[in-house]
Amino acid sequence: MRKNSALNLVWFRDDLRLADNPALVAAMEAGPSVALYILDEQSTGIRPLGGAARWWLHHALADLSEELASHGVPLLLFRGEAPEIFQKLSDELDISQVHWNRRYALAEREIDAQIKSALQNQGIEAHSHAASLLVEPWQLSNGQNQPYKVFAAFHRQILAATFRPVLEVPETQAQVEFEGEPPGVKLDQLDLLPQKPDWGEKLHAWWTPGESSAQQRLEDVLANIAENYTQERDRPDREGTSRLSPALRWGHLSPVQVVTALTKQIGQHADPEGAAALRRQVIWREFCWHLLYHFPQMPTQNFRPEFDSMDWTRAQDDELAAEFLSAWQSGETGYGLVDAGMLELWDTGWMHNRVRMVTASFLVKNLGVHWKDGEQWFWDTLVDADLASNTVNWQWVAGSGTDAAPFFRIFNPELQAKKFDPQGSYVARFAPLSAQPLVDLKESRAAALAAYAQIKDEKRQG
Ligand SMILES: Cc1cc2nc3c(=O)[nH]c(=O)nc-3n(C[C@H](O)[C@H](O)[C@H](O)COP(=O)(O)OP(=O)(O)OC[C@H]3O[C@@H](n4cnc5c(N)ncnc54)[C@H](O)[C@@H]3O)c2cc1C
Repeated sequence: MRKNSALNLVWFRDDLRLADNPALVAAMEAGPSVALYILDEQSTGIRPLGGAARWWLHHALADLSEELASHGVPLLLFRGEAPEIFQKLSDELDISQVHWNRRYALAEREIDAQIKSALQNQGIEAHSHAASLLVEPWQLSNGQNQPYKVFAAFHRQILAATFRPVLEVPETQAQVEFEGEPPGVKLDQLDLLPQKPDWGEKLHAWWTPGESSAQQRLEDVLANIAENYTQERDRPDREGTSRLSPALRWGHLSPVQVVTALTKQIGQHADPEGAAALRRQVIWREFCWHLLYHFPQMPTQNFRPEFDSMDWTRAQDDELAAEFLSAWQSGETGYGLVDAGMLELWDTGWMHNRVRMVTASFLVKNLGVHWKDGEQWFWDTLVDADLASNTVNWQWVAGSGTDAAPFFRIFNPELQAKKFDPQGSYVARFAPLSAQPLVDLKESRAAALAAYAQIKDEKRQG
């Protein structure tokens, strides 16, 4: 199938970049290399991507393919169960080594371990590398030799750690040629783009998926956003945050690149407070993955089991609960900031962090809908949908997670709007027409607190 002799494979997953990519560097140093991406939605335990994520992935793969080709590396695309694809490839190609950067969710780890041992049994070297986190989750533990559950201590420990240096893009290799068609499918055959309607078009107005655009954005952030981040970060009406979340989610940038750049700026700047606050947020991402690695049930189970008996669906019946969820999803709750957030999400595939907290709190606490329903909607609609950040943050807002906001801290969307969108320009931009309020804020708050008091009582009584 291939003209030349043995080759190395680099398996791309959540690391769609050429710079600072340890797996790519190691494979290309070892010899002629071919890259692959597998859209695996069938393997046990894998959560299929949401719609907005699929849109992002399509364009990111198109970009990655071009960039790799300009370095002599073909990108092969596959769809199906990863272990089977590797079995077929090792039958068809003369493979010497396989390299990948590690993944940290349980199902993915199990698949990777299975593939590694199958390859090794066939005499093929399989190497995994550290790339998508600052520090491997098993290398960090608190004073009791346990995983961290509290962010402040975790943050301190990360700041005290030393990270590997940022890696350069490897030198271009001689083009790898195949006899006839290379194995795999065409990008369109992955079926990642929405068809009817083609809502993906509107996302183009906001985003350009891929490594070079992410690097450009990081430059902009360092030049224009970092310095004022502390004052601006809570204002959805301004462009005060980095909007690097999709770049980090898809690995167009590694956290080592971002944190190294911010640390350099902190060292050189007379007023480094903003850059330090931004770095702290990037470390929140790291914390979420630390938690997910050590507590892999977080996407489906309350971290605090006492919340299992919580009466989440305080809406009188299932039909009403479904109506509440649907009104929230379509930005028709009658509360401007909530509706603007949900419509920003629908229009752009992204929502400001302050508004994510307000909309999530409103769904769980005022509408009495389970956090899992909100988490699933965000999973489907965010271009930065990330298993760790999404589930940990939903549980944080719901009060059921580690280091969580106490349940009784219920955001009032009207007060939040006054404080963080004082001229109402964010609401006017995304939700100019207001519906009738779906629930009364005071009453729904009281109902939420009563449900919470009940689980607290149950816990006390054992
Ligand atoms: C209910 C809820 C769900 C969320 N779901 C996701 C998700 O699926 N994917 C996701 O990347 N973020 C999620 N977040 C975290 C946060 O809202 C986004 O990371 C942030 O809004 C992205 O915008 P930014 O890049 O401008 O952030 P900045 O404020 O510029 O922060 C820089 C980077 O730090 C990281 N970060 C910032 N805040 C957090 C946080 N609270 N938790 C974890 N990482 C953080 C992100 O990678 C972000 O790009 C969620 C937050 C809430 C409250």
